[in-house]
Amino acid sequence: MEFFDHAETWDRTSIEAAQVVRLRNTVEQAGRCAFYAERFAEAKITPADIRVPGDIRRIPFTTKDDLRSQYPEGLLCVPREDIVRVHSSSGTTGTPIAVCHTRNDLNSWAELMARCMYMVGVRRSDVFQNMSGYGLFTGGLGIHAGAERLGCMTIPAGAGNTLRQIKLIKDFRSTVIHIIPSYALVLANTLRENGEDSRELPPRIALIGAEPHTEQTRRRVEEALGVKAYNSYGLSEMNGPGVAFECQEQNGLHVWEDAYIVEIINPETGAYVAAGETGELVLTTLCRAGMPILRYRTRDLTRFLPGGCACGRVHHRIDRIHGRTDDMFIVKGVNIYPMQIEQVIMAMPEVGQNYLIVLENDGPKEDLKIKVEIRDEYFVEDMRVLHGLQQKIARRLQSEILVTPKVELVQSESLPTGEGKANRVLDLREK
Ligand code: AMP
Ligand code: ZN
Repeated sequence: MEFFDHAETWDRTSIEAAQVVRLRNTVEQAGRCAFYAERFAEAKITPADIRVPGDIRRIPFTTKDDLRSQYPEGLLCVPREDIVRVHSSSGTTGTPIAVCHTRNDLNSWAELMARCMYMVGVRRSDVFQNMSGYGLFTGGLGIHAGAERLGCMTIPAGAGNTLRQIKLIKDFRSTVIHIIPSYALVLANTLRENGEDSRELPPRIALIGAEPHTEQTRRRVEEALGVKAYNSYGLSEMNGPGVAFECQEQNGLHVWEDAYIVEIINPETGAYVAAGETGELVLTTLCRAGMPILRYRTRDLTRFLPGGCACGRVHHRIDRIHGRTDDMFIVKGVNIYPMQIEQVIMAMPEVGQNYLIVLENDGPKEDLKIKVEIRDEYFVEDMRVLHGLQQKIARRLQSEILVTPKVELVQSESLPTGEGKANRVLDLREK
């Protein structure tokens, strides 16, 4: 097994020893801004109080609202002139958060990102095409830096403009791409329409992430593009991509514990969940000076995967993100996550590449409608066949989510797509 960084080979004792030292330094560093200085004073915690890994529990959580309240520079812990880059994310609500990085912060982020890419087989001889939006979104410059660090020939293609993407792939013989999964399916459709055989095209690896997706969607991306697709997880608050990444086993994402402390809590009580149970991911930066963030409540839901990984790394693995605490919706009193729906429909061969969940009022009643694209070969004129398919999808969904949805079959490529993160739920209910 080849490794990019010796930290990948550390055993648990070495990881935990490094974490204690780095957490202590991070508490000291974070205390340089008023926000954390006050928090630490209230919690009566000083750097010297961090002696064993469990001491992290004495530190209060940081929430997205905290970050918003400190926008833009409230959490700066170095002199302003030491900052060389700003990233910002507005999420769905529009109120921004910002993260400021020093040169060293960017260096260690690039190292982490290069480590992720190396882990899945990317090498300096590869041509890397980044189909992610650049600008404030971290999937652009973040992954770009990792690819350059590895020494790949790097193409900052940016998002969208599918025909140009295909031309670049062919002209430069791109062997590795980074692409949002929903856009990967759009690219696949365009390739098919243009009569391209994706197995003949050079890409062999796709890094996919930035939005929730299911195992079924990963398989579709792999089949449609003729690649191995690896799940990439990150968030702006923790740099961006490079926080957790699948290894070649494709069975859970390793969180780089030399750079982050990972905890999973019950979102209601804040207590740790039992081993293997799903809860909210909480992350702490260990290698950041510009804006360290401690015990950040990500709102992302996942669980620790038990046991060791065949790849030999002992950095904890998390399951793919099941959803977010804030993307759950309630219909007829039942809590539903979009990924439960995706899991069912994307496993069906008749279903095309896209779907949309619509929540509506029908008088006083709530309706869950699911618009599902159907592959051309199944989109037949015989109403009985279509009706049968509709019923089949509704039945399968009902057994997963316990609510009977109205299923509307639509032609392939008729639902809205974008080049950025997909919006899966349209809530038209009167509030
Ligand atoms: P942003 O900081 O705007 O890039 O958004 C980060 C958020 O995107 C995370 O908190 C997750 O909700 C989501 N996200 C990123 N990568 C993944 C992934 N691989 N799987 C599921 N959700 C993801
Ligand atoms: Zn592994």
